[in-house]
Amino acid sequence: MGEVINVVDIFGENVFNDAAMQERLPKKVYKDLKKTIEEGKELDLGTAEVVAHAMKEWAIEKGATHYTHWFQPMTGVTAEKHDSFISAPDKNGKIVMEFSGKELIKGEPDASSFPSGGLRATFEARGYTAWDCTSPAFVRKDAIGATLCIPTAFCSYTGESLDQKTPLLRSMEAINEQALRLVRLFGNTGATRVTPSVGPEQEYFIVDKAKYLQRKDLIYTGRTLFGAMPPKGQELEDHYFGSIRERIASYMKEVNEELWKLGVSAKTQHNEVAPAQHELAPIYAQANIAVDHNQLVMETLKKVAERHGLTCLLHEKPFAGVNGSGKHNNWSLTTDNGVNLLEPGKTPHDNIQFLLVLTCILKAVDKHADLLRESAADVGNDHRLGANEAPPAIISVFLGEQLEDVITQLISTGEAKSSKQGGKLLTGVKSLPDLAKDATDRNRTSPFAFTGNKFEFRMVGSSDSVAGPNVVLNTIVAEAFSEVCDILEKTDDFDMAVHDLIKQYATDHHRIVFNGNGYSDDWVEEAKRRGLPNIKSMVDAIPALVTDKAINLYEKFKVFTRAELESRVEIEYEAYAKAINIEARTMIDMASKQIIPSVINCTTVLAKSINAVKAACDADISVQVELLTETSALLSDTKVALAKLIDVTEEASEIGDAKKQAAFFRDEVKVAMDELRIPVDRLEMIVDKELWPMPSYGDLIFEV
Ligand code: ADP
Ligand code: MG
Repeated sequence: MGEVINVVDIFGENVFNDAAMQERLPKKVYKDLKKTIEEGKELDLGTAEVVAHAMKEWAIEKGATHYTHWFQPMTGVTAEKHDSFISAPDKNGKIVMEFSGKELIKGEPDASSFPSGGLRATFEARGYTAWDCTSPAFVRKDAIGATLCIPTAFCSYTGESLDQKTPLLRSMEAINEQALRLVRLFGNTGATRVTPSVGPEQEYFIVDKAKYLQRKDLIYTGRTLFGAMPPKGQELEDHYFGSIRERIASYMKEVNEELWKLGVSAKTQHNEVAPAQHELAPIYAQANIAVDHNQLVMETLKKVAERHGLTCLLHEKPFAGVNGSGKHNNWSLTTDNGVNLLEPGKTPHDNIQFLLVLTCILKAVDKHADLLRESAADVGNDHRLGANEAPPAIISVFLGEQLEDVITQLISTGEAKSSKQGGKLLTGVKSLPDLAKDATDRNRTSPFAFTGNKFEFRMVGSSDSVAGPNVVLNTIVAEAFSEVCDILEKTDDFDMAVHDLIKQYATDHHRIVFNGNGYSDDWVEEAKRRGLPNIKSMVDAIPALVTDKAINLYEKFKVFTRAELESRVEIEYEAYAKAINIEARTMIDMASKQIIPSVINCTTVLAKSINAVKAACDADISVQVELLTETSALLSDTKVALAKLIDVTEEASEIGDAKKQAAFFRDEVKVAMDELRIPVDRLEMIVDKELWPMPSYGDLIFEV
């Protein structure tokens, strides 16, 4: 079973974490750096110099030859440019390994080819990366060798953010400031910082690499664009939490070890609903670290798969007809003196601070449902949200029986006097212990569910960064907190004012609470009656970023400027158009060069057989004739649909306006793609498997 590893020993072994810093930095420098990390104090160059030196020595001991500023541009994946530590050779041809404080805190990638949405003209190509010292540096080992990775934020020459991390850090500042005001009002004067905690659960698919390489659609787009359903799908529900197959198990083991070395606390793993689908969840961490770690999780899942002859698919919908993949973003707020603001305690009805926080969140989510929805929009996620799967595209909040009851009491009488309790779980089996039951059952269909002491935002796509959703959560809740603090800081009767605010918010925003089945058609109708937005596609979600409401919110809390928001709109429309364009061109390529030739091949075989049988005897050839007729008819349908797709894809490329182009891709190109898929999937069912040019769904998801 391979070597025995000691998790305690390897955990964080490749991270320049607190222990490493304490061991390697002079006391004074360590203290200064901690101040920067914990209180956001500026780091002076002198301190940075010493830290850089220690970090370099440490990294070299780990085998590092290069360093990189590791950042997260608007492409959704991380970017890096590697520099080696070597200095210019001296006159004897000798080099030394160098790394200065300046190189640690600031990088200058020529960034003209990253998406900027018009924020930066190409003649002003300068971009800067700046060290986010609150997320520790690490050494990553792969085929290139070992590299010291320094988590950074990425900005333009004029200071506009060009990445996911800068707004995230700004939103963490905003929620910290407003949440501190709030907890102080409730007498918690010991807290000096409030931090959002995030635990993202990551879903993914694993397929055999050799088969993956035979599918151009998977290679170019990350999802299958053709493919008939296999005889068995996920209907038996025998994969979910099923025992993990040997090949996958050894893959997961290595993923865990790699992640542990990087200080990522990979904790939970299991099979998911769809065949070949799995999930990995780490223990939650401070938001910006959790975001970085989620990027490392995605990278590691992909990288380790290669070593096992497997390929990891992070796309939201790799296979039509089986469940897609998402990411559950668990979120809570914790003070540095250990109070989780989302912890209701056993009797939430008399936990006034909790009720105020909760109703503030209801208000925030109701007011900015469009922004939350937008934060989960990506091209792949359009196949899930609003498409009869995963959470619906309508934002609502699940509170559960206990809290719903408390809120109802508040609305009807202005006071909550009791909290329903869970009681004992009675199994009817004497030998099983009586378990204390949670006061609330789980709900799997809500996009935003309260789960005990945190909210779980379940709309996020599996391939997307979780930065965006957390920027929204932090900022909208900061706004709600700031509004109550503005009132409460001035009031003479604090208790009464709190009471009134809780009641008012619970009443005004009760429409966002929904505890029923979020997948049902009834809910779509009900939500419409309640006036909740149902934004069905990414293209329709994007404008939420630049409403007056959004601009006011983000400018007030200094998270985005108007120009940054406008640039993001541009980037998103473009991302959409580009992705669909690649999908369409891939379909055209596959249909023209692989599928049509194979089908012609098949018709030739059939025709030859008909003639041969005819010549040989007087046997019944009706089966072959029927098959040939059917195949030929579908072949001609394929050709017609292909011609249409070629036309509209051409037409799309000529549209100049980003928004119009994205809409055209959705309304015309995607429709033409669906039309081409229909005859091809039928053909797959009747053409000889030997002649079909690529592995089937069955081959891909059942034979890993
Ligand atoms: P569930 O099964 O209810 O979704 P898990 O215990 O599996 O809960 O946790 C799911 C994710 O939520 C994990 O990443 C976990 O670390 C994270 N999590 C747990 N508590 C919190 C919290 N207070 N704040 C943020 N994330 C949390
Ligand atoms: Mg969960």
